Amino acid sequence: MMSIFSCPLCGSELKQTTKVLECPRGHQYPHISGQFYFLPLFQNDSWSFEQIDGLQDKLNNSQFLQYMQLKKRRGIIEPYAAFQPFNESFQALLNCIDVLKNHLKPGDVILDTWCRTGWSGDFLANLFPEQSVISIWEGDNSVLGYKGYQALFTPETRAANHTIIFHDPNKRLPLKDHTIAFCFAYDSLHRYQGIIDEVYRVTKRDGIINFAHVHLANSEPEPFFERGGIYRLGLEYQQLLESHQYNYGRKVNVLSELDVYSTSQYTEMRTSPQTEHYNGYIWVAPREYSYLTSSYIDIKPSNYVFFNPLMMVSSSGRLSINRDSDNNRHILTRHPFLNQAYEAISAISESIIANLPPLNQFTTIKQLQQAQLTDGQIELLIKQKVLFAASLSSAMLEAQAMHMNAENVTLTST
Ligand SMILES: [Zn+2]
Repeated sequence: MMSIFSCPLCGSELKQTTKVLECPRGHQYPHISGQFYFLPLFQNDSWSFEQIDGLQDKLNNSQFLQYMQLKKRRGIIEPYAAFQPFNESFQALLNCIDVLKNHLKPGDVILDTWCRTGWSGDFLANLFPEQSVISIWEGDNSVLGYKGYQALFTPETRAANHTIIFHDPNKRLPLKDHTIAFCFAYDSLHRYQGIIDEVYRVTKRDGIINFAHVHLANSEPEPFFERGGIYRLGLEYQQLLESHQYNYGRKVNVLSELDVYSTSQYTEMRTSPQTEHYNGYIWVAPREYSYLTSSYIDIKPSNYVFFNPLMMVSSSGRLSINRDSDNNRHILTRHPFLNQAYEAISAISESIIANLPPLNQFTTIKQLQQAQLTDGQIELLIKQKVLFAASLSSAMLEAQAMHMNAENVTLTST
């Protein structure tokens, strides 16, 4: 997998030594515990050994684990990271898992361009164990930063096929041409200049590109809020991508994110660049790989289960939307359709709810089965977005426990 990396400054081959990746022109990039630092870039041509030692010391002396404990004691929640498994921007991918399972071959490489919390890359790495996943995070910022990634995503705890790199996606990606079989360019298109050219350059000619969660100019949220980045019309993206020199005749599907998320059966993709929805989901693929299915559900007993942080059990013993917290009210304002989408949860019977473990903790499918829930009931709860189940690394469980401020019962009980 290392063989697909190339120097982001000059494009030449990179050789791995004990401390750095180095190109023939002398550009160097540190690696520590299997994580690669293509940042800071462009201030110097390369990192000096002193700078690399400094970075290593800074990360070795990390107080991140104590910081996590402190957050826990203070009950601090990262609302968007906690909601990530249920966010329709991520969940729309679940309607494309079938097509990806058909498309990807053993040894293929998946690129994940916006791995803010570890979630997207870890999910893909565990779902596709025969493939490798490279996740990019844009630098030493946000919920984890360099220290959080080093403290949590160690070689022992992260998925064996998951590599995390730090890079500025506005610049040339540190990858060779046409080496990626699937590019999950989540929340990236409106954010990064030049990302279209770079994603096309690194993806194989018959590969799949998913610009997931794209802020479109087609309409605005009502009530209005600023979504961020550059807004373009779906039609502009349709034309731009179809005419791209590296598109190679692939079908460009500019879809409404909500339409994808709501798909309940096998559906051929039909591009709708003039969708009235303001968030898009763009899928560039050969025609035979341009379809959607119902949302992917996997209830393997060993899979981990999360509860939707927007929901609660009300005094009547039924499920309802929890509007008591500021975090939840904020998310509901930004995702107004969820009010209707989650309506059906109130009809789920009390007898099912009574068997659920505490909603603020994680569990496993096996524990739900032991709590006398049938597989049909578990699938219903996943379909209604009360639960989310997936195979994840222990690193991601720890990270998610921190974001949700949950007791990680699955790790402490095993
Ligand atoms: Zn170079």
